[in-house]
Amino acid sequence: MDKLTNKILNLEKISAALEPSLLDRNKMNNQLQDFINYFIETIDDSPAYYSGKPDTNKLSITLKKKELKNLLAIYHKEVVKKGINPASGGHLGYIPGGGIYAASLGDVLASITNEYAGMYFASPGAVVMENELLNWMKTIFGFPKDAVGNLTSGGSIANLIALTAARDKHQIKNEKITKSVIYLSEQVHHCVHKSLRIIGLEDVIVRFLELDKNSKIISKKLAQQISTDIANKLTPFLVIASAGTTDTGAIDPLEQIGKIAKHHNLWFHIDGAYGGFFILSESKKQLFKGIEMADSLVIDPHKGLFLPYGIGTVLIKEKEAVFHSHHYTANYMQDATANVEVNPADVSPELTKHFRGLRLWLPLQLHGLAPFIACLDEKLLLTTYFRNQLKAIGFKLGPEPDLSVSYFWYPSKTIDENIFNEKLINIIHKDGTVFLSSTKIDGKFVIRMAILSFRTKKATIDKTIQMIKNCIVQTKAYFKNN
Ligand SMILES: *Cc1c(COP(=O)(O)O)cnc(C)c1O
Repeated sequence: MDKLTNKILNLEKISAALEPSLLDRNKMNNQLQDFINYFIETIDDSPAYYSGKPDTNKLSITLKKKELKNLLAIYHKEVVKKGINPASGGHLGYIPGGGIYAASLGDVLASITNEYAGMYFASPGAVVMENELLNWMKTIFGFPKDAVGNLTSGGSIANLIALTAARDKHQIKNEKITKSVIYLSEQVHHCVHKSLRIIGLEDVIVRFLELDKNSKIISKKLAQQISTDIANKLTPFLVIASAGTTDTGAIDPLEQIGKIAKHHNLWFHIDGAYGGFFILSESKKQLFKGIEMADSLVIDPHKGLFLPYGIGTVLIKEKEAVFHSHHYTANYMQDATANVEVNPADVSPELTKHFRGLRLWLPLQLHGLAPFIACLDEKLLLTTYFRNQLKAIGFKLGPEPDLSVSYFWYPSKTIDENIFNEKLINIIHKDGTVFLSSTKIDGKFVIRMAILSFRTKKATIDKTIQMIKNCIVQTKAYFKNN
């Protein structure tokens, strides 16, 4: 054997470890399956929040071979049992995720077959699958067939893509930037502000619109502000509304805002990352009237369709506006350019990407849509149920929410309410049975609930009330003794 062949064959022996045998695969699959089953079977009895920090040493990279079994144990102790348990039905903080099982099967399949979902040429099936999912979402939100879209990693990138298209449609660059005006609510998600900086619009004029007592944009004020700005020779070009704000779940008056935007030729962007899929609930449909008027829309399947983290969606009516920044041809891609489908890579900063479509396609095909809609309706009713129970044990409630995010506070008579409720949430976090977060509404410290995990059930809310009652007793005791 010559030297080169010898060397190659030697390396082949070592690198063969990267393709485990059937026997080894089965062994690893069984260990993983045991872990998964234990995790899911015990999740209802596990805390939703663990305080404490992971041991960095245990997680650092030593590059020595280890057994999967041991690694799973480390993963359990240092990762799963630290911080929020996002798969738990007791996760009622921020915007919960969840992570339905069928989606995980899609991820496994996508990883094993490793379809190249960025370009039609490479995987026509994967691209058609993703485009069909986008087409389905276009019908839900009343977008035309020729709108484009993308399955992103989440709502932040989806917003980034949409706002980039708005910028390019109106050619906001150079000296135009400081004369251009964006209208939004203080309740927009902070990723919108991040996006504006990333896309070079840090110096545009941002008008924070006045909100009503339900934290919704007052559309009359929007119209007035636009007129004032035009009279002052500024260039209004973009209005951003939320279909479900993160803090209180408020849906802005979409139709009224849409009409104003149209009248003044503004780009109308709607962020429905949290709330968008509630349009599927018959009881809420009318609140989304006008969503079809948007030029761009963001929705997050990893929120409203209970998928594991890592999938958002953007829909944009004007293909040319998106293509300006994202469509690209390079010499080394010359084989990949001629086709009829829109390539995901033409609508996103990503070229190579995770084949996210499968994790959505598989659950929708396996379960049909009915359980998803039932789950959304269930979350809405659980929100009402939770509020009723809170009222019964003496809490004050924020306004009746549009969706499944709401807030409440304990009206302490002896201690400053902000101080009392801050201590209360600390004690709730220490307890950990159920995870709630807090926020400030008009300077008032309040406890916030967000119900969106598919695992949140009536029993979860009953457990939460029990926990909160215990925590109030502890909070009162604390202030008595301090
Ligand atoms: C969660 C959320 C985002 C950000 O989405 P990510 O998926 O976390 O990147 C944007 N807007 C709203 C309204 C959200 O609720």
